[in-house]
Amino acid sequence: APCYLNGEYLPLSQARISPLDRGFLYADGVYELIPVFARRPFRLDAHLDRLQRSLDGIRLPNPHPRAAWVEIIRSLVDTAPWDNQSLYLQITRGAGTCRDMPFPEASSPTVFLFAAPLAEPSARQREAGLKAMTVADIRWGRCDLKTLALLPNVLARQAATEAGCDEAILLRDGYLSEGASSNIFIVQNGIILAPPKDHHMLPGTTYDVVLELAAQHGVPHQIRAISEAEMRTADELWRTSSSKGVLAITTLDGHPVGRGENAGKPGPLMRRMHAWYDDFLNDEIRR
Ligand code: PMP
Repeated sequence: APCYLNGEYLPLSQARISPLDRGFLYADGVYELIPVFARRPFRLDAHLDRLQRSLDGIRLPNPHPRAAWVEIIRSLVDTAPWDNQSLYLQITRGAGTCRDMPFPEASSPTVFLFAAPLAEPSARQREAGLKAMTVADIRWGRCDLKTLALLPNVLARQAATEAGCDEAILLRDGYLSEGASSNIFIVQNGIILAPPKDHHMLPGTTYDVVLELAAQHGVPHQIRAISEAEMRTADELWRTSSSKGVLAITTLDGHPVGRGENAGKPGPLMRRMHAWYDDFLNDEIRR
C-alpha cells in the first residue's frame, strides 16, 4: 500500500519513524480518517476543518496550507489500487532529542498518511443491524478533538468484541456520549434525537449528513442530551461513521431495540434514511 511520510511517497513497509516520536511516546498528535468513494474523498473540506480544530486544540501548527493537503491526498488516492479507500492522516509533534514532556524547542511534526481499502458494511450489518453493548465513558474532557490517545476506545471495542458485539456505546453520568468509533442517535416517537456537539463527543461528518438529510426530508429532529433510560427504551438506535455510513443497532446489551413487529430489526425511519443516504452518496460520486 502507498503511503506519505514527511514529504516522501513510499511503500508502507519502508516507512520509518523515530522511537522518540511524541506520537509514539505520548500520543501527542491528531488524526483524520477520510473515506474515499470512487476515488473522491468524502467531505474533504469538513475533514480538513476538523483537522484544523484538532491541531488548534493541542497547539500544534498546521504543517501545510489546504492546497498542499489536497495535493498530497490527491496523489495518494490516485496511486492506490482501490476505487473505494480509507485514507488515514496523522500528524504528531515529532521527535525531540530526549523523552521530556514540554514541547521540544526544535522539532518538526511527523506527517503520515496511508491508503487502505475501505471496509464497507456487510449486507448482514445493513439488513439485520448491529449488536452493541454499553461501557462507561472513562475518556478525558476533550473528546471533541480527534487525538491519537484512543486507549479507552480500544478497550471499549475489545470488550464489545469479546461479548460478540460490533460496537461499544459510551455512557457518562447517565447520558449517551457516542460510540467507540461512531456517533449514536435515537428515534423516539418519530423524532430523531442527537446528542449535542460538546466536549464529550467527536463532531462526526456523518452526524452532520444525517441531520441535513432529516431536514431535507422533513423529519423532525432535536439536538439535546439523551439519557441512558431514553436510549434503552428508544424505538430505533442508529450508529454513524463516515466509513460505514448509517447503520441500525438492533441489539443493545443483549436486548432487542424497539417494540412490537420492529423489535430487534432496523426500524421504519432507518429504512428511509438508508435510501436517502444511498442517494446522497451516489450524488456525491457523480458530482
Ligand atoms: N466518534 C468517534 C469517537 C469516532 O472515532 C468517529 C469516527 N471517526 C466518529 C465519532 C464519527 O465521525 P465521522 O462521521 O466523521 O466518521
